[in-house]
Amino acid sequence: MTWAPPYGRLSETGELAERAIALAGLASPCRLCPHRCAVDRAAGGRGICGLPAGAVVAAATAHFGEEPEISGTRGSGTVFFGGCNLRCAYCQNSTISQGADMRRRPVTTSADLAAMMLDLAGRGVHNINWVTPSHVVPWAVAGLDAAAAAGLALPVVYNSSAYDSAEVLRLLDGVVDVYLPDLRYSDDDAAKEFSGVEGYVAASRAAIVEMARQVGTANDVGPDGTLRRGLIVRLLVLPNDISGARESLAFLRDALGTATRIALMAQYFPAHKAPDELLLSRRTSVREYQRVLDVAEHMGFDNALVQEMEAQDFYRPDFDRGAEPFADAAHFQGLGTTDGRREDSR
Ligand code: SF4
Repeated sequence: MTWAPPYGRLSETGELAERAIALAGLASPCRLCPHRCAVDRAAGGRGICGLPAGAVVAAATAHFGEEPEISGTRGSGTVFFGGCNLRCAYCQNSTISQGADMRRRPVTTSADLAAMMLDLAGRGVHNINWVTPSHVVPWAVAGLDAAAAAGLALPVVYNSSAYDSAEVLRLLDGVVDVYLPDLRYSDDDAAKEFSGVEGYVAASRAAIVEMARQVGTANDVGPDGTLRRGLIVRLLVLPNDISGARESLAFLRDALGTATRIALMAQYFPAHKAPDELLLSRRTSVREYQRVLDVAEHMGFDNALVQEMEAQDFYRPDFDRGAEPFADAAHFQGLGTTDGRREDSR
């Protein structure tokens, strides 16, 4: 039988539209993410993420720099949403996540969002990849409903910083096929200082447990080599142990098990305000990254993706370029995959 994403059935029965309405209800007063700003976004209120009701799309493009089972050979159909519920001092996408331009842009209609996803599907991408969706999820789901009605049948990837509400995620059960959270911190003070969020550790861990409850950790890879259902947890290794990777790995080991697919990311470089922050003002060193690899191996993680240190020189989107933010898209192929074996990162 041909594989089809579960959201197609939800769209046929009308439940996907009902989920979008239920999610929109959580935006007025807004509690779509753990900030719980309580502003009335339907009435134009704006909280920490900076957007009223509705999604803003900064770019929609095929992306070849994600994990191999996300990008595949034809790219991941990334939809970069404007605004963000984090305020990372080191954000490499700060022009779209925190820039004033995104706040001024008109929101994208469900029909236009559906058209973008269908256009990406027409370009042959393996999936639809919502990047930074936490603050716009009601409208992303409404767009998905319209796209599904028009025939979209690709897996949906939810690519967030893990500062997600478990209540919101429960409404995405059967809607999202692949979760791709980036577990940033294991210390609330660091999360507050460098990303402006309260209670990050408990919120992100609860979110990841809920994601795993929905899609499991035994990833389902289709015949094209890309994920149809599953979970990949990213850990961005920040300099000076700001990310507390050892503690995050211990959490993943204890909560989900060491077969969980993890992506250990070395790509940090000081962007945005980071050059002025003493602890963030340099790249992650080879030694720091290797230490995290050693910890992961020692804990028994045997399904880890490892990056080459050269990744620090790629993954630099420039959203002033318009529709194609990756100038070097044709020149890199993302993470050096190990699929259970380690590669020398030096
Ligand atoms: S989605 Fe935005 S407005 Fe809503 S709680 Fe989160 S940061 Fe605040």
